[in-house]
Amino acid sequence: MDKETQHMVGDKGMTDLLRKMQDQAKKEGRSYLMEHECKQVLEDMGITTTGSRAARSEEEAVEIFRSIGAPVVLKVLSPEVVHKSDAGGVKLNLKDSEEVREGYRAIMDSFKGRNIVGVSVQEMARPGIEVIVGVTRDPTFGPVLMFGLGGVFVEVLRDVAFRSIPLLENDAQDIIEEIRGYALLKGYRGIAGDVPALKDLLLRISRLVEDFPEIAEMDLNPVFLYSSGYMVVDARIILGEKPPQPPRPASKEDLHDLFYPRSIAVIGASGTRGKLGWNVFCNLLNHNFDGKLYPINPRAEKILGIKAYPRISDVKEPIDVAIILVSANMTPEVVKECCDCGVKYIVVESAGFAEMGEQGKQIEQRMMDIAQPHGCRLLGPNCSGVINTHSSMVQSIGIVDELTRGNIGLISQAGVCAAGMLWGLRHIMDFGIVATIGNKLDINETDMLDAISEDPNVDVMCMYLESVKGGRRFVDVAHKVTGRKPVIALKSGRTEAGKKAATSHTASLAGNDEIFSAIFKQSGIIRARDYEHMFNLVRAFAKQPLPRKEGVFIITYAGSLGVIAADTVTDNKLRLADLEPELKERLKKLLPEYVGGLNPEDYTFSQDAEQVRKTIEIGVESEDVGSFIVVLQAEILGSYAEALRDIDYKGKPIMAVVAGKEFAMEDVIAIEKVGVPVYSTPEIVADALAAMYYYGKNTLER
Ligand code: ADP
Ligand code: MG
Repeated sequence: MDKETQHMVGDKGMTDLLRKMQDQAKKEGRSYLMEHECKQVLEDMGITTTGSRAARSEEEAVEIFRSIGAPVVLKVLSPEVVHKSDAGGVKLNLKDSEEVREGYRAIMDSFKGRNIVGVSVQEMARPGIEVIVGVTRDPTFGPVLMFGLGGVFVEVLRDVAFRSIPLLENDAQDIIEEIRGYALLKGYRGIAGDVPALKDLLLRISRLVEDFPEIAEMDLNPVFLYSSGYMVVDARIILGEKPPQPPRPASKEDLHDLFYPRSIAVIGASGTRGKLGWNVFCNLLNHNFDGKLYPINPRAEKILGIKAYPRISDVKEPIDVAIILVSANMTPEVVKECCDCGVKYIVVESAGFAEMGEQGKQIEQRMMDIAQPHGCRLLGPNCSGVINTHSSMVQSIGIVDELTRGNIGLISQAGVCAAGMLWGLRHIMDFGIVATIGNKLDINETDMLDAISEDPNVDVMCMYLESVKGGRRFVDVAHKVTGRKPVIALKSGRTEAGKKAATSHTASLAGNDEIFSAIFKQSGIIRARDYEHMFNLVRAFAKQPLPRKEGVFIITYAGSLGVIAADTVTDNKLRLADLEPELKERLKKLLPEYVGGLNPEDYTFSQDAEQVRKTIEIGVESEDVGSFIVVLQAEILGSYAEALRDIDYKGKPIMAVVAGKEFAMEDVIAIEKVGVPVYSTPEIVADALAAMYYYGKNTLER
């Protein structure tokens, strides 16, 4: 039998076996499998365990002992006892029948009066490196796998890592390498762990849970890892209901017309300055939306000079997108009208829905019930619509000033904050599509990521998330996207609220934030610490090419900032570039006599734009230079822009540091406009360069 068929046969058998055990457990009123059952399931999955056989009498225990051979371990077997060793339920290293008899009696004594099935008799495994492998169910992403070193590493240091199930081969490698204890597995004092065997174990567990989704939690604790192979010593499986199916995906073709509509109706458009219906309509007009606009308002002839219609049904032309701004309780009726008119996308910008409580939730459900049969897609409610600079469309609920067409895609859960940020950021960042998703009733963050990343105008994506609705699909979509375009995400709401009391060890370690971090790693998303960090990174990715070498060339006007930059370069796992001797000679000629050091090339307060240009041009020629950091002098900042614009960087990225940049914004904007991102500290720049370098190396085209 080849390996593949063997696995399939094993799977079928395993599923049947689990099904039977599940029925038995249900009958006995327990939600978990006992150790000997778990090990049987694992063995069936091709996983090596000590085995475990149930003995219901002293005689039987001795009999099993004789068939296994010394030494053995006895463990209490009871549907009531979860932590066996706590109350004297584990007897180790029993070498003859007398010890087995004594062990048996001792266990029976300790658990007198409890519901005892008997004892399990098993082979005593030789010691190895203790690891823990676990499974728990995350409310957002479904089953996740946990891995860590056992004992104090997990109990005290919480040195564990997570991945969403199913794991790909490289996920198994990554989760092992992620824990700090990996150094111990690689080899310490002549003892190393069999990492390939461990990987195989993780992948089998992932498959087991994939095949039998009723597995809610699992602890293999401990597993002994050897220099060759491993042994599962203890196992626990907790069964639950099958998890619900994730929401239907919006295929990306679906969303094209949402970003490039030919016509938009604004229901609740208003001619009264200051009303939200006025803002939205103003934005569409002022940004010169290049399709048709239909304001809908029963009390107006014209709105801002455009013919108004009492109802959407009075518009006799096809409408791609309808924006709804009427009060929440009226929306279902309006959604119905839109659907009857064949509207493809409805953007509900009104608030007062699920975020307000039960009644709002019911209104949302009514909207879905109406829209779905028509194949009409809903964005929002409680959102601020979509901006697409490439179709001159601004649907925002707050007035947005002039925007330049750009290559950044932004998905934001909070509409208001997207608008507020744009007001300032538009000076130094050029957005392509900005999509706010609000309550994500229908179109969610995953649909948006999938769709926007396909847009040829968008080169880099960023997301502000408070939750994820797409579940596991988010991981798959993000993984696909990050292989072509960088994604930077900020996740807020790091609370542990709502975390249920956990039965398994794994579940107790799986905090919401840990899982999100793991999901981002697994899918290649770069996680931002805060808003500032997110936009710093996005700006760098959007404006500059990826460094293809670790070597960084630093050019500075002040020694101290050069030293700090050099430190941060190293801190971020990059290094200083070493230029070729001939280039060094040329650099020396540019420097004033009284200074030394060629990287950082330090001009000690005699730096000018022309020198910076010449220095960069020498650096560009070096094989070892992957990127540039230029520390510019705030006092003469205005003089650099032109020089920086005219350099042929030959595909190497450059970023500027300007201490005190917030007091020279006009000049900063001028430099940003020529495509060089400006930051206030060397730390920020080194962090961004490293993010770009490692994204290119590890994630892109993986
Ligand atoms: P618990 O329910 O308390 O987790 P375990 O089955 O994990 O019980 O047993 C407790 C400890 O005893 C394990 O951490 C391991 O060190 C040791 N142990 C248990 N079973 C075996 C075995 N078959 N071979 C070797 N050591 C064992
Ligand atoms: Mg245990």
